Amino acid sequence: MYDIAVVGGGPAGLSAAVNARQRNKNVVLIAKEDQSSKLAQAHLIDNYLGMPGINGPELARRMKEHALALGTIFHKDEIQSIYRDGQGFTLIGRENAIQALAVILTTGIVLGKEIPGESDFVGRGVSYCATCDGMFFKGKTVAMIGYIPEAEMEVNFLAEVCQKVYYLPQYSFKGVLSPKIEIWEGKPVSILGKEKVETLRTSNGDLAVDGVFIERAGRPADQLIEGLQMVNGLILTDLEQMTNLSGLFAAGDCTGKPWQINKAVGQGQIAALAAVQYLETIADT
Ligand SMILES: Cc1cc2nc3c(=O)[nH]c(=O)nc-3n(C[C@H](O)[C@H](O)[C@H](O)COP(=O)(O)OP(=O)(O)OC[C@H]3O[C@@H](n4cnc5c(N)ncnc54)[C@H](O)[C@@H]3O)c2cc1C
Repeated sequence: MYDIAVVGGGPAGLSAAVNARQRNKNVVLIAKEDQSSKLAQAHLIDNYLGMPGINGPELARRMKEHALALGTIFHKDEIQSIYRDGQGFTLIGRENAIQALAVILTTGIVLGKEIPGESDFVGRGVSYCATCDGMFFKGKTVAMIGYIPEAEMEVNFLAEVCQKVYYLPQYSFKGVLSPKIEIWEGKPVSILGKEKVETLRTSNGDLAVDGVFIERAGRPADQLIEGLQMVNGLILTDLEQMTNLSGLFAAGDCTGKPWQINKAVGQGQIAALAAVQYLETIADT
């Protein structure tokens, strides 16, 4: 059991890890990339205090080195869901499950447009995690819409449990999938149904399905943990970076504008200090 699990390896997450390690907490940082893809794309950063002219990949490298040098445990993985587990949390990744007493979400902003009908059917046929929810569709017909090649592993898992699986790759697909999967050319247009999902409308015709799985480069934070309060897709926090869920903190782009490094680093620090304080309160109970 770790003291603090930080989800996300951008400036907010690395700052949270550095500050929590400086308070001698046992910290694990889980990130799906070696380096924040936002920072990796920033060729020239001119507004980060004390480092004018630095490029994004170099700044990301230095930040990560700093967190690792202080003893942060780094796991490359994508967290798919988080559950309250006794006094702490269990974080389920694609590769591993991790337990921690407090969690700091620093997952950045999610790009990608919702499919019409998608949010109406979350939990009623729309899912973002095949390994978490696939068993609910045992013997049924499902479609997987994959925006990233990582979806191929998930769709192969669905083929093991579902009766019929359609795969709609939304990138240039070159992989090899289970022969049980039917590749469906076309774009998702809408998700339709009454009480539950019944149809996936595509640019190439309608598919009668019981479930639609969607795999994007990122997922909104309230799909990671139930009950998390969000406003317009951003995590709502107080001034201590505490969310509405006790023991769960958030920092950086995922909490709103300005989408900038200085703010992400500052909020990461505040979240870490608040998490340390939270750990003290639960230690007293
Ligand atoms: C081209 C470009 C140029 C920019 N230039 C500047 C600039 O000059 N100055 C400036 O201040 N800002 C700039 N920015 C913005 C800046 O990069 C962001 O504000 C900053 O990176 C936000 O940090 P963050 O830690 O909140 O999020 P991010 O850096 O986006 O990091 C989020 C992390 O979370 C990980 N993650 C997400 N979901 C999961 C999950 N479920 N499980 C595990 N890991 C997950 C991601 O892989 C990533 O590591 C630029 C951005 C871009 C794209």
